[in-house]
Amino acid sequence: MTQNLLSLKNLRVSLPTPRGALNAVRGVDLTLGEGETLCLVGESGCGKSMTAMSLMGLSPKGAETRADRFDILGHDMTGKPQKAWAGLRGRGMSMIFQDPMTSLNPTLQIGRQLTEGVMLTEGISRKVAEARAIELLEKVGIARAAQRLRQYPHQFSGGQRQRLMIAMALMSRPKFLIADEPTTALDVTIQAQILRLLAELQRELGLGLLLITHDLGVVAAIADRVAVMYAGRIVEEGRAETVFASPEHPYTAGLMAAIPVPGRTPRGTPLPAIPGRVPGLIGSVSGCAFVDRCARALPQCSHLAPPLHTRAGHRVECHLQSVSREEEPQP
Ligand code: SF4
Repeated sequence: MTQNLLSLKNLRVSLPTPRGALNAVRGVDLTLGEGETLCLVGESGCGKSMTAMSLMGLSPKGAETRADRFDILGHDMTGKPQKAWAGLRGRGMSMIFQDPMTSLNPTLQIGRQLTEGVMLTEGISRKVAEARAIELLEKVGIARAAQRLRQYPHQFSGGQRQRLMIAMALMSRPKFLIADEPTTALDVTIQAQILRLLAELQRELGLGLLLITHDLGVVAAIADRVAVMYAGRIVEEGRAETVFASPEHPYTAGLMAAIPVPGRTPRGTPLPAIPGRVPGLIGSVSGCAFVDRCARALPQCSHLAPPLHTRAGHRVECHLQSVSREEEPQP
């Protein structure tokens, strides 16, 4: 049995706005085991990135983060100061962001950017740190690694910069990686290469990987488990093959229906989209947050919070789980 690298219970993140508190994350439960790939999926604004940032102790200024349980690598991080988070970020966990240019310093040679953090946290010499950097640059597919340590970010292509970010994230030999839409800024061919690289490294190094994406094709290719997020909550979670084969939440089913199936979806066929928009999350939500977009909504959905149903590790939050198909009102 794998050990949990992270374990979250009832994570809530709210942000102050002039119109009141925006409840971006509204009670998320999440675990990640050793060597496991968990994909967190959902539309923009559903709370995926906010969840990831709070897992790194990087919630935006002014955000209020609370949880009933917030264990990372065996440490209880509830209410811990920034110093405690910095220690964990340097050692046990790393994050890869969407746009490498926001994380790379354009005025510093790559070698310094790769090595300085670990020299500080591990007390190793520049020589040892550079040897590790060269090994990792080669691992992520950057040729002539020793020479390239002396170059600056603008001397690398977009795909190479994302490879640099992966190498940088691995410098501290983390137990798990959080990758937030790591290929969004890249063209499609490079996207596939970077994701393949991430999956290979994850397997080779036995890393836990929390991948945040809205791309279900990617999820199908690499996830062990998938968690579907909507309006700040996880509405369905389970083994990737089960969620893809038989999605139970109407939102998950809508997302799945919008993926073209190679060999089955004729070219040019319009794919069904989920009508409507994610609701605003200022103030409290009564009932199910998906109710205005759900074709199968029941009368109770607008005022009663959907109950959580768990069966063989598959979790679904929906009133439909409490009624049989025959009991559902027909359109
Ligand atoms: Fe639809 Fe109701 Fe289920 Fe929400 S709880 S997804 S509105 S059926």
